[in-house]
Amino acid sequence: MSATIIDGRQVSGRLRKEVAREVADLVERDGQPPGLATILVGDDPASAIYVANKRKACAEVAIADHHRHLPADASQAAVASVIEECNADPEISGILLQLPVPRGLDGASLTALIAPEKDVDGLTPVSAGRLVQGTPGLRPCTPLGVIELLDVYEVPLEGAEAVVVGRSNLVGKPLAALLLERNATTTVCHSRTRGLEQVCARADVLVAAAGVPRLLGAAHIKPGAAVIDVGMNRTEEGLRGDVDFDAAIGRAGFISPVPGGVGPMTIAMLLRNTVLAAQLQRARGQRAVESAR
Ligand code: NAD
Repeated sequence: MSATIIDGRQVSGRLRKEVAREVADLVERDGQPPGLATILVGDDPASAIYVANKRKACAEVAIADHHRHLPADASQAAVASVIEECNADPEISGILLQLPVPRGLDGASLTALIAPEKDVDGLTPVSAGRLVQGTPGLRPCTPLGVIELLDVYEVPLEGAEAVVVGRSNLVGKPLAALLLERNATTTVCHSRTRGLEQVCARADVLVAAAGVPRLLGAAHIKPGAAVIDVGMNRTEEGLRGDVDFDAAIGRAGFISPVPGGVGPMTIAMLLRNTVLAAQLQRARGQRAVESAR
């Protein structure tokens, strides 16, 4: 048996086209595109590349670019004031503070200042609380991308055994909440989990988000399982995931490769969240106008 390869590039390409159509609809209706503020503090080369990729993706779908670049020695108050400006700017639909911020700044406190309705990364405490409580809100992009891939490939989630390896606030925890919302029986594993192999081998849906190259091999995979590899590890052999792809392909039912799996989905979901945020803000603005009549 050879697993079906989950093609994140193809799925994300389709999503971007859909987003471009939605942006065009918003422009036609309101005369104004959604806008994304990417806030970069300092000159960390990896962060600069991530932000440049996000801005390029926005430009491709005609989302307006409201980039802000602050020097590495910017104070907490200076970054906070840029976030507050973006919160108040009606042309900005979504705000993204690129993490990590330089040493000396408190990234979590700064993130918490982002207005929840503009929190397109879904990382503020308010968004996290809404996710856990199952109330409407913006959800984190990478976990959303994982769910989208599973849906596109029609992997059943209801009642399925889902195992997530990793419990970060960015990926593992929100993904577990999304899987639970979809009625999967969800287990979260982490660095202190005992018997990782046995727990993973129960999974119909196995998601690796640990950041450890080749952490999961054939013995961790139930035959026929859907395996999603979120890991992005720079190794001497190049970019590798957390799953031993060659071992998994003969055992899994579905497998997402690295690169070309979850990676392209994250930016696509960021674009979708930005459009969603704009739609919700404009609907709210419209309701406010109507109720004032
Ligand atoms: P993190 O370091 O914040 O968290 C890693 C988690 O894995 C922790 O909860 C830890 O307990 C767990 N873990 C570590 N070693 C383990 C082990 N041996 N066994 C079981 N669990 C273990 O990382 P993160 O930010 O969640 O990212 C995880 C991976 O996903 C990284 O490789 C990162 O680069 C990648 N990532 C990819 C995307 C994407 O767009 N594809 C987005 C975000 C993160």
